[in-house]
Amino acid sequence: MAKILLAESAGFCFGVERAIALAYETASHQNGHSHRIATLGPLIHNPEVVSSLEEREIYSMENLEQAASRKVDTLIFRSHGVTAEAEKKAKELGLKTVDATCPYVLTSQRYAVSAAKRGQWVVIVGNPSHPEILGIVSRAALYTDKIRVIACLEEVEQIPSGLDAAILAQTTFPPALYDQIVETLGKKSSSIKVYHTICSATEERQRDSAKLAELSDCVIVIGGKNSANTAKLVDICKKIQSHTYTIETASELCSEWFLGSEKIGVTAGASTPRSTIEEVIARVKDAIGMPVEMEIVTGVEVCKQH
Ligand code: SF4
Repeated sequence: MAKILLAESAGFCFGVERAIALAYETASHQNGHSHRIATLGPLIHNPEVVSSLEEREIYSMENLEQAASRKVDTLIFRSHGVTAEAEKKAKELGLKTVDATCPYVLTSQRYAVSAAKRGQWVVIVGNPSHPEILGIVSRAALYTDKIRVIACLEEVEQIPSGLDAAILAQTTFPPALYDQIVETLGKKSSSIKVYHTICSATEERQRDSAKLAELSDCVIVIGGKNSANTAKLVDICKKIQSHTYTIETASELCSEWFLGSEKIGVTAGASTPRSTIEEVIARVKDAIGMPVEMEIVTGVEVCKQH
């Protein structure tokens, strides 16, 4: 009998659930008034959720200028956070703002600011063009220009030796790689303050997905094409199981990927709704055309569900 293995932590994380709830709550307070509500960039990297927000007349704006020209009243900041400049400009434009920045990201911003105020170099590990990193850098830059963003272990070499540094990571950064970067930077710094800013949801999801890839003959990763945390899951799974495929919705599934596999792994990024995961599982079951056993996989152990 074929099995579908589902990563226990697949799907929405706390920060995404909170951001969506805040957006729906904001829409519900319209009370028939014609307020224009918008998000600064897509609230999450999931087209279905973005469409559902549009049904509630919450549209995504590319930038503040567009929000102003469309006469938006209320602007929702997404879970990645925004830059200090964007926050300031939104105020200047008279926009009411709803801050859906994930508390984990806010903590990273605070750490960067406190290190900058202490006069330390602020080393941020992550994707330099990701909105979360841009937001953190912009806040530290209010107090210092001693900031470096590095994306990989090799880039530690670019950081001068002997610095008094503080280091923090993008919340979705792979924990093992961060540990290596911290160790390497520690050896060349005069002192180093290490912040553990990778969120627990990320650690659990990456750990569960790695275990899933070990146990599966093929892996389906569900998530937005622009989602950083989904891309990390794909990287992790592909290194362990080369038959790893990425989809945003069930309609992209290709049965050739998994027919003949005994164990089909399914995991999903933090922006993937439960309904999408269930739809993918239903389609896999239909394609297999025979009873399928389900198992929930964690990075610690595998437990039988049905
Ligand atoms: S992945 Fe972590 S940091 Fe990012 S929104 Fe979710 S809970 Fe927050």
